Amino acid sequence: MNLQAADFKARAKEALNDTQLQRAVPFVQDRLRSGRVQAAEALGNVEEWRELLSEIRMDTIDNLDSYLEQLAGNVRANGGHVHFASKAADAVSIVSRIAEENGARKIVKAKSMITEEIHLNKHLEEQGLSVIETDLGEYILQLAGEKPSHIISPALHKRRGEIAELFSQAAGRKLSEDTSELCAFAREHLREAFMEADIGITGCNFAVAESGTVVLVSNEGNARLTTSLPKIHIAIMGMERIVPTWNELDLALTMLTRSATGQKISVYVTGISGPRQAGDLDGPEQFHLIIVDNGRSDILATAYKEVLKCIRCGACMNVCPIYRHVGGHAYGSVYSGPIGAVLDPLLEGYETAKELPYASSLCGACTEVCPVKIPLHDLLIEHRKDEVEQGYTPQMEKMSFGAFGFMASHPAVYSKAAKIASAGTTLWAKDGYISGGPGLLAGWTAGRDLPQPAKQSFRDWWKEKGGARDE
Ligand code: SF4
Repeated sequence: MNLQAADFKARAKEALNDTQLQRAVPFVQDRLRSGRVQAAEALGNVEEWRELLSEIRMDTIDNLDSYLEQLAGNVRANGGHVHFASKAADAVSIVSRIAEENGARKIVKAKSMITEEIHLNKHLEEQGLSVIETDLGEYILQLAGEKPSHIISPALHKRRGEIAELFSQAAGRKLSEDTSELCAFAREHLREAFMEADIGITGCNFAVAESGTVVLVSNEGNARLTTSLPKIHIAIMGMERIVPTWNELDLALTMLTRSATGQKISVYVTGISGPRQAGDLDGPEQFHLIIVDNGRSDILATAYKEVLKCIRCGACMNVCPIYRHVGGHAYGSVYSGPIGAVLDPLLEGYETAKELPYASSLCGACTEVCPVKIPLHDLLIEHRKDEVEQGYTPQMEKMSFGAFGFMASHPAVYSKAAKIASAGTTLWAKDGYISGGPGLLAGWTAGRDLPQPAKQSFRDWWKEKGGARDE
């Protein structure tokens, strides 16, 4: 599936008519959301934790250059290789080069949003390399040829029947819809892939600058096999996924797992500080860390800087009323939900992602749950402002707001226009609501009814009641 951020409205409409999606998204959203609430209550003073983590993340972002230098120095001191990639294409080339230099053909991957962002699989497969996703959700999506629809639960939109069909095709025999049978097939198939792989690729939940350690959290154990069985491990991280020390990691992990799934801690937390050392029983012979910029440096100097504090927990998606109704694919980009609506326009530009900042009711629920206090709804308003200033607003909308601005600053004109609108819309009104009409009215009422304007304006009513005019 080739997703593009443009055409959000068309895809949202499709999603609203997808009955399976309408059941699946709220089900997962409610489960993850209630887990987060319970975990937050158990912490007791979650606001203090949020405040502290927000401050730490901001300080890290403000001093990214020195922390990155420290991280790179420590990874090299541990025997690893560090590569800086300023663009997505550079990161892909680095992976291709490592594969070529080592004669590698088979790659296993653990779930990683940054590799989705740089479209790594597509490029590597075009070069004839075999890439197998080993996270169960990602494996299902790879077989289906789809992209993740949620940061934490990538295949939440898939029914068990669909998964059984996909696995049956891959197995070459009929598998039942029994969960243990499906998992047994995936385990057997993926175990072979782990054993045969030349390279294991992972993302990076956090990189600890003081020790040069890449930290991965997972609930399936696939990340651990990806990093320990193949001879080469390549970890790819967005340049902002850094924590200064293990003390800050402690706080960040506490908030990440609680906000994501409501767990106190993930089943597996793996720390990798370089390649296998003398005396180690397992581990890769080579360890490469690719640090990707891909537009992040540009964000640093803007009003959107705080979005770089994101720890990709997905909590904002689990409370968003828009995401609840349209799911992740409607956003047409790697990142969906409120974080996607803020981040995608910054990474892809307004040309393709200009609709996304409008995919929000601005209720602020996302901002309230964000463990690093990113003011998501404020940033969405900032995007809307920037779009207007940069000329991305439709001509009709510009003219309408211009006309409204003129009327609002000329009370006599406003009063007359309100009377004309009230009389004019009577033609399409029924029982106090307008559910159709021409031009703009048709667009507005296509999805909801508009209350009919009052026959008498407040000013006229006030005058009639003999109310005093405050001059
Ligand atoms: S914006 Fe906040 S809530 Fe959303 S994924 Fe990032 S850290 Fe989590």
